[in-house]
Amino acid sequence: MCDIQVTQPSMPPFDEYVEMIKDLWDSKNLTNRGSKHEELEDWLNLYLDTPNIELFTNGHLALETALSAFGLTGEVITTPFTSPSTVQAIIRSGLLPVFCDINEEDYTIDVGKIEELITEHTSAILPVHIYGHVCDVQAIEEIAQKHRLKVIYDGGHAFGVTVDDQGIGNFGDASVFSFHAAKVFNTIEGGAVTYNDPDLSESLKGLGNLGQTDSETVEYIGGNAKMNEFQAAMGLCNIRYVDDNIEKRKQIVERYIVHLKDIEGIKLVPEPKEVKSSYAHFPVVFDGYKKTRDEVDQELRRNRIMARKYFPPLTNKFPAYNGHFEIVETPVAEYISQHNLTLPLYSDLSLEDVDRICKIILN
Ligand SMILES: *Cc1c(COP(=O)(O)O)cnc(C)c1O
Repeated sequence: MCDIQVTQPSMPPFDEYVEMIKDLWDSKNLTNRGSKHEELEDWLNLYLDTPNIELFTNGHLALETALSAFGLTGEVITTPFTSPSTVQAIIRSGLLPVFCDINEEDYTIDVGKIEELITEHTSAILPVHIYGHVCDVQAIEEIAQKHRLKVIYDGGHAFGVTVDDQGIGNFGDASVFSFHAAKVFNTIEGGAVTYNDPDLSESLKGLGNLGQTDSETVEYIGGNAKMNEFQAAMGLCNIRYVDDNIEKRKQIVERYIVHLKDIEGIKLVPEPKEVKSSYAHFPVVFDGYKKTRDEVDQELRRNRIMARKYFPPLTNKFPAYNGHFEIVETPVAEYISQHNLTLPLYSDLSLEDVDRICKIILN
C-alpha cells in the first residue's frame, strides 16, 4: 500500500504536454508574453469570469505585484490564518501587516473586528478566501468604501469558486490566484491578478517585467515575475481537465462528509448555497472528540496517510518577523490552528481511500 499525501498535482497526459511544447523548438520564443501565455490568459479570463487578468510566474509575486500596482502605503489588514506568502508579500512591499482575527464559522476574516483595527495609516484590506471559503465580500466592500480602503483578496485557494454564478475574482479591487502544483489548477508554478480597473494593466505588466513598459522605457521599480511558455503550456493542457478534476474533488468531499458529519466533536464547514466550490481543501476541526487532533494525525501517519496541520503556525508567529510588528492575539485563529487537520484531497484520490481514512479517524 502506498503513501497517501495531503495533496498531489493534477497532470495532463504526458503526450499532450509534449505536443503542446513542440513548436517552442521552432519559434524559440520561450517567455516574455509568448503565444501560449496570451492564449492561457484569454482562457483563464473566461474561466474565472473576470474583467481583467495578468499572469505571473507564481502566486506570491502576483500578490507582491498587485500590492505595488495600487501604490499602497502604511498598514494593511489581513489575517494570520493563511499561507506565509500573504504576510511575506506585505512586509516585502514595505507595508505593515495588521492582524485581524478569523471567524469561527468558515475561518475567513472576522468582518466585525476589522473596523477597530483601521487607523489613519491603513491603506488596504487583504482578506484571504482560506480553503476556498468565500469571505463576507459584502461587508468588506461596505467597510472599504466607508474608509476609502483598497481591497485585494488572496484567492490562493479559490480558483474557480463562484458566488451566485459570479467568478470570485470580481470582488474587491483585485484578487490574486495561485497555480502552484498543489492547487486545484496548476501551471507547475504560476499565478494571476484579476482586477476591475483596466488602467492597472500597464503597471501590472511593467512591474512584473523589471519595470519596463517597452524595450527602452523603465517606468516602475519592479521585479521579474513573468510566466514562461512551458508554464503556460502546462496550463493550456490542465485547463482541459479542470472541470473533471473539480467534479472528482467534489465526490471525494461528499464521501468525507457522509462519514464525518453529525459526529460529536467533529466540526465541518458547510458550503453556503450561493457558493460553487472547487474543493481546494477539506479542513476538519476536532474538539471534544474522543481523540485529539494530534492523536488523529498520529494514527493516520502510522497508516502512512499524510494529513496536514494547516495551519499552524499562525503567520504572525514566525520568528523571522520578530521586531517587525507587535503581535496582537487572535484567539479564534489560535484555537482553529490547534484543532484543525486538513485531510488528503486531490482528484486521483480514490473513494476507497477516503473510506479507509475515515475508518481510521472514526475507530
Ligand atoms: C499558494 C498560496 C499563495 C502563494 O502562491 P504561490 O503560487 O505558491 O507563490 C498565497 N496565498 C495563499 C492563500 C496560497 O494558498
